[in-house]
This record gives sequence, structure tokens and C-alpha cells, in this order.
Amino acid sequence: MDTNCNAPRALTTEAVHAGRDDLARQGLHAPPIDLSTTYPSYDSRAEAARIDAFAATGAEPDGPPVYGRLGNPTVARFETALARLEGTESAVAFASGMAALSAVLLARASMGLRHVVAVRPLYGCSDHLLTAGLLGSEVTWTDPAGIADAVRADTGLVMVETPANPTLAEVDLAAVAHACGSVPLLADNTFATPVLQRPAERGARLILHSATKYLGGHGDVMAGVVACDEEFAGLLRQIRFATGGVLHPLAGYLLLRGLSTLPVRVRAASATAAELARRLAADPRVARVHYPRIGGAMIAFEVHGDPHAVISGVRLVTPAVSLGSVDTLIQHPASISHRIVDADDRRGAGVSDRLLRMSVGLEDVEDLWADLDRALARAGTAAEAGTAAEAEMRRVLH
Ligand SMILES: *Cc1c(COP(=O)(O)O)cnc(C)c1O
Repeated sequence: MDTNCNAPRALTTEAVHAGRDDLARQGLHAPPIDLSTTYPSYDSRAEAARIDAFAATGAEPDGPPVYGRLGNPTVARFETALARLEGTESAVAFASGMAALSAVLLARASMGLRHVVAVRPLYGCSDHLLTAGLLGSEVTWTDPAGIADAVRADTGLVMVETPANPTLAEVDLAAVAHACGSVPLLADNTFATPVLQRPAERGARLILHSATKYLGGHGDVMAGVVACDEEFAGLLRQIRFATGGVLHPLAGYLLLRGLSTLPVRVRAASATAAELARRLAADPRVARVHYPRIGGAMIAFEVHGDPHAVISGVRLVTPAVSLGSVDTLIQHPASISHRIVDADDRRGAGVSDRLLRMSVGLEDVEDLWADLDRALARAGTAAEAGTAAEAEMRRVLH
């Protein structure tokens, strides 16, 4: 490889060049999409040696992959780029964020380390996967200060999200990493993205992304990825090979394309979100606004009135779960993203029934505010009329 490629480059430069370093020499500009599921080889002894090498370490086979489940060159470009952005040796991509988290849990369980220590809130389905023990894991929920005491001999993982979905609560990653001792810390960095925070620099060994969100960035690709050291990446590739949660090459292409605008998108949307958070905090119809210290394009807020009326009242903003797209989305976590979490656990984690979560996109701030203002007016009216929903909310809260 050209040594220039290894010189440190700024994040914005990496975003458009990482994973593409070979293209100009190949006479290409756009990255090729390799849709092959299998790869011909006239030398089956060499193939056997490459399969043995993969089975030993999980390192990517030299030369063309043997079969699509062992690796794909287009997906590998995205993995290379994401690892550069997160500042890790490697990254391993999966069919979704949940497939990525599942592979981490399986990698630890396969070593007899089934116990997980986790801090709420987490994304609803991550909470569910751990609470239900669907992969044979056992979870201890704690606050950041309780992590060191919760770690046992069979603890394989400590998991946190910061800022967390959906409350945007933040944890001090360096302090948490210290409390983990030798247990790997997994930080879900979906909300912050490497533009705002690089957890590896604070001691996280595993960085999880739902790439469905900001990395893809356009609401049209579902994917997950774990950025980590090469040793752990080898384990994850072996799990991916054996359990099959691979990413489609077209998704890999779209993610690489998405990464090139990630810094620009995150910074622009964050500036709009900061302004909307300021206006919401000053609005008498809004009880509370949660906006992280590190910034970002996510806002959570609690309304005095009926949160469902805000959802049904928006016209420009799209009422939909998910986040990180170029357009603004709003949803009611207690009804959708965190519905699967037991109601008491959910409320205990700070996810109030009045909380709304908004993912701010790239629209003009005045257009967004006009839409929110109209929707908030409807919510206020619904509350004043004392709807059944209001009465129910009061019953539940008291
Ligand atoms: C969406 C999300 C996930 C799950 O990712 P999928 O791509 O939907 O499987 C995990 N963590 C966070 C923080 C999320 O927002």
C-alpha cells in the first residue's frame, strides 16, 4: 500500500477517501459493487489453506474470498472506512444493528462468558435481547457507578449507549472503561457517530453502530457494524460466517457512499437541532428538553399535553421510528422504539410516557419550527380538553 495512505488524515478527508485508496490506480472513480456469492479457483489446495487460515484467526482471506459469507470486497471497503473513522484496527459489518450486537454476545458466550453488565436506557430491542436472554446471556442492570461491583468472573461484556436512545442520557466513557477492568466495554455510538465522539479513544474496546441510522443516512439501507481491534474482529467474522448475518454488497456500497457526507450531514443537522432544542426549552407547552452536552442531531422532549397529538399533528416532519436520515423524523418511544421494554423498566430508565424523540434532518430550521409549533398547539388543545388519553396518563403516572 502507498505509505501516504497511512499518514493521519482529518475525519472529513477520511470520510471521502477511506476504503477507496486503490480506486485511482485501478482507473476507477466510483467503487465497484461485487455481487458475487462465490469465487472461482483452479487451485483447491490453496483454497483449503485459506479456509484453514480463516478458521484459525478469522482474518480476512488473502486474495478473493472463497464464498460470500466469508467476506465481500464491497462490504470490506465500508468496513475499512468505518474503522478509520472510529480509529480502530478493524470493523465487521452485519445485516443490521441487532445482528451486530447478537454476534458480539455470541462471541463472548462461546468463551463461556455469558454475563453482561448493562446501563439503561439502551435502544428498546437491545434491552429486550438482554432482558429476555434470547441468546442465553444473563444481564445485570446497573448505573455507571455500580459497574465495578456488578462485574463477575463470567462477565463477558459491559454495554452502554451514550448519548442513549431515547433519553439522550450521557455516560462518562473513560470512567466507565476504567470500572470495566479487563472486561470489554461496548459503546453503542449510533447517536453520536465518530463525528462527535470516538469511544475507542476513551477506552471502549467495541463500538457498535446501527448503520441503518446516520452512517447510511438516507433511510434506505439497514445495516450494523462493530469497530474493534483485529483480534476481536476475527472472532466476529467467524461468528458471521457461521451464523450468516452478512451485509448485502449493495448495502455496503450505499454505506460507503453515506460515509462520505457523514461529517457534513451530522454538523449541519446538529446546528439545526441545537436551535430547535433552544426554542423548545423556552416554550411553555414543553415540560422538559433533553439535549446532550456533546450536541448532535437528536432531541428528546416531554410535552405538558398529549404526545400522541404532536405525532398526529406534524406535516413536514415524518412521524416514524428510526433516525439519522436527511429528513426529520419524530416518534413516541413508549409506543414504538421502546414498546418492547417492560413499562416499569422503561419508566425507571427515564423514558416517560410523555417523551417524544426527534431526529433532526437537513431541512430549514424555520420550516421545521413552524411545523413543530403547529403540532404543539394541537397537543396543548388536546390536553386542555381533558382527553381520555390525558386521564389515562395521569392514572398511570400516579
Ligand atoms: C436502531 C438502533 C439499534 C438497532 O439497529 P438496527 O439496525 O435497527 O438493527 C441499536 N442501537 C441503537 C442506539 C439504535 O438506535
